[in-house]
Amino acid sequence: MKHNITLSPDNETFEADDGESILAAARRQGFNLPHSCQNGICGQCKARVLSGRFEQAGHAEQALPAEEAAQNHILMCCCFAQSDISLEVPGYRSGKTPPVKTLPARVASIDYIGDTAVVRLDMPKKPSFVFLAGQYIDILLKDGSSRSYSLANSPSQTAQLELHIRRREGGLFSGLLFGSEPAVREKTVMRVRGPLGTFTLQENDDSPLILLATGTGYAPVQSILHHLAEQQSPRPIHLYWGGRTERELYFAREAAALIGRLKNARFTPVLSRAPESGQSARGYVWQQALADYPDLSGHQVYACGSPAMIVDAQRVLCEKGRLKKEAFFSDAFSPAQADSAAEAV
Ligand SMILES: Cc1cc2nc3c(=O)[nH]c(=O)nc-3n(C[C@H](O)[C@H](O)[C@H](O)COP(=O)(O)OP(=O)(O)OC[C@H]3O[C@@H](n4cnc5c(N)ncnc54)[C@H](O)[C@@H]3O)c2cc1C
Repeated sequence: MKHNITLSPDNETFEADDGESILAAARRQGFNLPHSCQNGICGQCKARVLSGRFEQAGHAEQALPAEEAAQNHILMCCCFAQSDISLEVPGYRSGKTPPVKTLPARVASIDYIGDTAVVRLDMPKKPSFVFLAGQYIDILLKDGSSRSYSLANSPSQTAQLELHIRRREGGLFSGLLFGSEPAVREKTVMRVRGPLGTFTLQENDDSPLILLATGTGYAPVQSILHHLAEQQSPRPIHLYWGGRTERELYFAREAAALIGRLKNARFTPVLSRAPESGQSARGYVWQQALADYPDLSGHQVYACGSPAMIVDAQRVLCEKGRLKKEAFFSDAFSPAQADSAAEAV
């Protein structure tokens, strides 16, 4: 049986089959609704049911606390319609995000910097690949699974995309990219799907920006910084990029150079397992941001990287720094759902 899901306030509709999550149905029909882990852990796909019956399946308590569930909030990745449903999805407005396409992409180059690979992909000239700073693509693997990677280049550069991919021990895609005889190398052609995600800059606002990144969470932040530099943005910007040691800040020099192109921007590297130095702060990115800006009530914060950093940053900055909940934007690099082993891309 099929159920109609209507998105408020734009009144766009898609169909969900019995047993198909609302998010899966939306994605199948090309609706780019906010989401990240698809496991009920990160909470990025939270929405509110305005009318209709549904079944919310298992999820992490921190992603959907009981009091929110009691007010008809759901996690779309693990929620199933039992009738037609009207839904309010925060942050989603139709027509504002570029169309999602599946396209071939050819590896132009791979630079290995410590445990990170900077991968550049040549895209077809037509149809051109249009995206917003902060969005990501899915690399589609042969076994039907996919891995998500944020776009690190400026959205004005659509012919070649840049990805920053960190090695994960025992990881499926990591094995294809970092293995002794990598299946993904120069000239490899892969299928990619995108652009995806709603971690994009709110441009109708000129409030000061705090950008928090851990590890390769710097990738979409770099795209946002390129975009702001090209716009010659006068907004005050402070980038905090964190890792355990300096080695994890694989693009620190490039980040400093990019910050230097902006009129009113600063960069603080933050290391959690290295002594404080003239060049970097010690601790976590959100700790340092709060120490520098005890009152964040007029700021916007964009956070990208590990789910743990995002959960802590949101909680602490909203509770202690008076950051407005709606001024916190994030993209969690959650592991993909468990899937079978792939042969190759
Ligand atoms: C929206 C989004 C954007 C992303 N963008 C990037 C990006 O720009 N750069 C990047 O390097 N990664 C990014 N990721 C993570 C990426 O999609 C993969 O999860 C990651 O590269 C691991 O894939 P794999 O196949 O190598 O490992 P898998 O086979 O998926 O996993 C291998 C092992 O590593 C663990 N693991 C996997 N990913 C993580 C993680 N993120 N944190 C902790 N443990 C993990 C798994 O639990 C498993 O035990 C993003 C994820 C999301 C959801």
